[in-house]
Amino acid sequence: PHKAAGGDSVRENNNNSSSAAQVAEHYNQRRQLGVQGRMHTKITGLRLFNNWIKSIMIRKFAYTGCRVLDLGCGKGGDLRKWAIAGISEYIGMDIAQTSVLQAQKRFEEMRNTQFSAHFFAQDCYADPLENTMRPSDYQADVISAQFCLHYAFETEKKARQMMHNVSSHLADGGVFICTIPNANWLVKRLKANHDGTRSFGNTVYCVDFAEDASRIKRFGTAYAFTLDEAVEDCTEYLVHMPTFIELAKEHGLELEYCRDFHNLFADHTNDHSSVELLRRMRVVDNDRPEISADEWEAVGIYLAVAFRKKS
Ligand code: SAM
Repeated sequence: PHKAAGGDSVRENNNNSSSAAQVAEHYNQRRQLGVQGRMHTKITGLRLFNNWIKSIMIRKFAYTGCRVLDLGCGKGGDLRKWAIAGISEYIGMDIAQTSVLQAQKRFEEMRNTQFSAHFFAQDCYADPLENTMRPSDYQADVISAQFCLHYAFETEKKARQMMHNVSSHLADGGVFICTIPNANWLVKRLKANHDGTRSFGNTVYCVDFAEDASRIKRFGTAYAFTLDEAVEDCTEYLVHMPTFIELAKEHGLELEYCRDFHNLFADHTNDHSSVELLRRMRVVDNDRPEISADEWEAVGIYLAVAFRKKS
């Protein structure tokens, strides 16, 4: 990274539009529950499960010595997963400056880290990453965007900027991994509301569409999402998968993997090391999933996706 990208300071590079400012404000306001606090919420099982999914994706696509760029890194919740993967370099970026500071603190408090890390407050969808670091400063082997890419699909301009940011900072042959809400699932669930109401959910989550979404638009189909302790009435946007694949293709990336979380889980139930990881991450206890039926429905909303940049 260029000289200003020091691990000991967080640089801010935000030129927020109002919706992006609201997202930043939303995440900046979230209180940090700490490990103990996180172990006793209605979505503890869901959090553990989602962490297991991210670990599996990191195992699948990261490798010893790879360089990582984490877009929407939040409070750095995946830093340990990357450490276990044996990466050599990490750059974390997020629009919420408070989260970025917490991520940096988390990194500094980690013991025996074998990789260098740098953190930046940056809007990764509205602004070019070049504002913070040039492509020649940093090329990642793995770019990760976990539970955050849906914000880019507010407008075509943002989605294109996001794709340009990814493609220009991804090395040839590198992989872009992300977890996103499954637009088809959400719309199918919406259509199951035969009375025409636009919201659905259960005791842990609520989705509320602002408009009739029975035909998915390419960009800008908004819904409000609430997930118990984690997200409260936050505006998200449907990720129209064919559009995402087309944009990726235009930027030299090919779809390599796409699985919803339920099927990703089913794919790994016979794989000894993945099941062992489930136990260690406390997703299952004595082979019994520690996840309620409502949490299980909520995790089914998501897709794990990977694109490869042609070499
Ligand atoms: N990736 C982290 C994880 O898996 O724990 C955080 C996920 S959190 C649900 C979504 C994150 O996306 C928040 O930290 C938020 O600030 C970030 N975000 C939203 N819009 C962004 C943008 N335009 N640029 C960068 N980060 C953004």
